[in-house]
Amino acid sequence: MSQAPEQFAAIAGNLALVRRAIAEAAREAGRAEGDIALVAVSKTHPAASVEAALAAGQYRFGENRVQEAAAKFPGLKARWPDLELHLIGPLQTNKVRQAVELFDVIQTLDREKLARALAAEGARAGRLPRLLVQVNTGEEPQKAGIAPDATDAFLRLCREELGLAIEGLMCIPPADEEPGPHFALLAKLAARNGLGTLSMGMSGDFAIAVQFGATLVRVGTAIFGERAPAPRDREGEE
Ligand SMILES: *Cc1c(COP(=O)(O)O)cnc(C)c1O
Repeated sequence: MSQAPEQFAAIAGNLALVRRAIAEAAREAGRAEGDIALVAVSKTHPAASVEAALAAGQYRFGENRVQEAAAKFPGLKARWPDLELHLIGPLQTNKVRQAVELFDVIQTLDREKLARALAAEGARAGRLPRLLVQVNTGEEPQKAGIAPDATDAFLRLCREELGLAIEGLMCIPPADEEPGPHFALLAKLAARNGLGTLSMGMSGDFAIAVQFGATLVRVGTAIFGERAPAPRDREGEE
């Protein structure tokens, strides 16, 4: 898949703008810029766009579907060993083995059945990706994630009963609400459970997320441009 040079330049320019905005938000919040890592969300965009970002020094990417990532990333990972791939969409238990092979970080551990499947695959494979628990801060019925008031107990199950190392928490606030209170809630849940990684903030609100303590921001549109409309741009696995 080829891409016009101007699209490559646009991606490099967008990346520079996003990095600068993260640095600015960090400075305003009195935080170190280096404490915030950018995950470039490349879902629906071709491998050529990922390569343009790699050429601009971006090594951390997010995809929301196992199948799409499996088609796009193995070749890129072979050529760029530093590439770090994050799963940011729902994971079906029948794709756990493939996801464990492909992803460096799974941000969407969102239910007990998946925790048990990951623990079993970890025992079999001898390794697991880094894991974040997704919290449904808005308690939206259609959205994945652990309810806020069930998060402490879910983390205990993962850590104590299943022996999973949990690195942090992730959330996607409701589209029609101020994100700040959701980010604050996620930060509070992480702090009281001794978790240092907070994945929150997308193209529209990553600067706010940095104010509330984000250590990973997931930015797609502001880097790669608009995605093709539905059905490919749905949240979730087919
Ligand atoms: C698509 C997606 C993003 C990126 O969204 P943009 O608004 O394009 O920056 C971030 N997080 C998750 C979970 C996503 O599915």
